[in-house]
Parts: sequence; C-alpha cells; structure tokens
Amino acid sequence: MKEKIYTIPIQDAFQQESECPVCVMYRKLEENAIHYTIGPGASYMEEDIRAQTDDQGFCQKHFRDLYAYPNKMGLALMVKTHMDKTIKELEKATKAPLPIPNSMFRKKAKPSSPVIDYIEEQEKKCFVCGYINQTFESYMMTIFYLYEREEEFREQFAKCKGFCTSHYKKLFCLAPKYLNKKYLEAFFKELNEIYLENFKRVRDDVEWFICKNDYRYKEEPWKNAKDALPRALTKTGSIIVSSEEE
Ligand SMILES: [Zn+2]
Ligand SMILES: [Zn+2]
Repeated sequence: MKEKIYTIPIQDAFQQESECPVCVMYRKLEENAIHYTIGPGASYMEEDIRAQTDDQGFCQKHFRDLYAYPNKMGLALMVKTHMDKTIKELEKATKAPLPIPNSMFRKKAKPSSPVIDYIEEQEKKCFVCGYINQTFESYMMTIFYLYEREEEFREQFAKCKGFCTSHYKKLFCLAPKYLNKKYLEAFFKELNEIYLENFKRVRDDVEWFICKNDYRYKEEPWKNAKDALPRALTKTGSIIVSSEEE
C-alpha cells in the first residue's frame, strides 16, 4: 500500500490492535493537542493562541487532562486570563435587564438573559476539542479516500475489529458525503456487518466475564473475557482505557 504522509496516521490506527481504530486516531490527536496546548512549545505564551484559550476555555475532560500534565504554571497562566475574560463578559451581561417571572402558560420556558446566553455559548467551546476537530475531519476523509483507492486498505478495513457506536455513526453519516457512489452500497453493507458482529462479540465476552465471577464457572477457561470490560468501554463509551487503569 502506498504511504503518503497524511495517510500514515490512518493506516497505523487500522494496524493497531483495538476495538475501534477511529478511537485510536482520536486518542493520538488528543495527546498531541494537549501537548501543543501546555507542552514545552509554550503555545500559550503566543498572543493569538492565548486570545483563543481566553475566549474558549476548556471542557471538563480537557481541563482534567491539562491538570494531569506536569506544567501547573502554564495552566495557571491560561486559567487566570480565561477568568479575566469571563469576569469582563459576565460583568457586561449582568448589566442587562433581569429575567421577568414566567407567565402561567410559559412556566417551562427558559428565562432569557445575556448571562445565560454567554455561559451556554461557553459550555460548547473548548480550545483542545477545537484543535482536535480541525484534523479529525480530514482523518475521516482520508479513510474514505483510502477505501476508494487502495484494495489493501479495503482488506484492512474488512479485517478490523469494528468500531465504537459513536464512530460507527460518524462513518455512517460521512460516507454519502465523501465516498464515490460506486463504493457506497458495499461500504454500508460492510460497515454494518463489521460493527454489529464485533459489538456482539464483545457483548458475549462481557457475558462470559460476568459468568466467570460465579463460582459455578470457576474452573472454566477465561476465553477472551479477562479484558472484556475495558474493551466494552471502548465499544460503548469511545474511551481507550490505558493498561495502568485496567
Ligand atoms: Zn471509536
Ligand atoms: Zn475539550
């Protein structure tokens, strides 16, 4: 298979043993994004990057990842100026008229206020998620690009151990957008089969894992059930549990 610089991350992920190669790609992008945000390059000291982190902040998941990274001072600097920005915007928003009491018929309606609007917009933003998503879409496109052009990749795709539910949906949604219609029907058929067959395989492994905790099955072999739970978490929750956490 011909390797081009932009196809390598996709081919690598499909070669790696996992329950979802797209999760593997995403995880790699996430590690790079965290490293870029808080790592030795100190991107947060650049004015334009800092303006973005001030405005966007981070989601819960990525705040945790940033906090786990050994650069507390870098995080403190970013958090401080992000808080400055929050104070400035919310001070402005609180000067607007306060929400009025809901009428009898509109008890469930959300009160309207620039305070709520601003915070709701903020809750959707995360600098790290944004950084990942810039590249993630092009990775997804490359999957379809390889599927159309490389017989060897189609074989690799057919042999993979399926996908998590969320990335199954992603592939399902994007196929009509990026895949030549010559391949589309075969792709859907294959994608559906790979997803369901492998999802059932892991479901069966979890079932056996549960059985193995019952004394009646004590002497039976483990089969593939020992690591069934972390693999099931990939399938259902799109998370890759590292071996230290197992
Ligand atoms: Zn996945
Ligand atoms: Zn995020």
